[in-house]
Amino acid sequence: MIKAVYPGSFDPVTYGHLDIIERAARVVDQVIVAVLVNSSKKPLFTIDERVRMLQETTKKIANVTVETFQGLTVDFARKAGAKVMIRGLRAVSDFESEMQIAQTNHSLNPDIDTMFFTTSLEYAFLSSTIVREVAFYGSDISGMVPDYVSGMLHAKYKNEKEIDLK
Ligand code: ADP
Repeated sequence: MIKAVYPGSFDPVTYGHLDIIERAARVVDQVIVAVLVNSSKKPLFTIDERVRMLQETTKKIANVTVETFQGLTVDFARKAGAKVMIRGLRAVSDFESEMQIAQTNHSLNPDIDTMFFTTSLEYAFLSSTIVREVAFYGSDISGMVPDYVSGMLHAKYKNEKEIDLK
């Protein structure tokens, strides 16, 4: 039984992440999507909102669960009984930092190995940052995130702009 952890900020989840989740779920027995709580970046969405968007958009994949974690990913993986870490690679620019993270994790816990999935070409440009920026200006993000996430983004920015106007 191979259990894998797919860690990230998912602020918010995009079609790029979902592509990696679906493909990983075909290769391993269980994928635990692990949402980082204490990210140094200030997230747009609360932890509960990020979890809800992931649950909603992965609910049709039986072997995927969504959890949250704080601290080191290797500690979370150990507690969850997972020996595989999933990461996505978009471009060469991702490679250097991802290799550093994978090697650090392996040295912290030699039982853990990282499995990389290269992005499907149509999502190579996609990041949560890009999606947030396009949504902020009210443009069409239907090719980037599922409808549920798009609705959450537009509601969030509408709310923020209303607060700014007050
Ligand atoms: P982090 O804050 O850890 O970078 P992200 O939520 O941005 O978290 O990303 C989590 C993982 O998903 C990373 O391995 C990242 O490279 C991967 N990823 C993000 N966007 C894409 C995409 N469009 N295609 C493939 N992998 C992606």
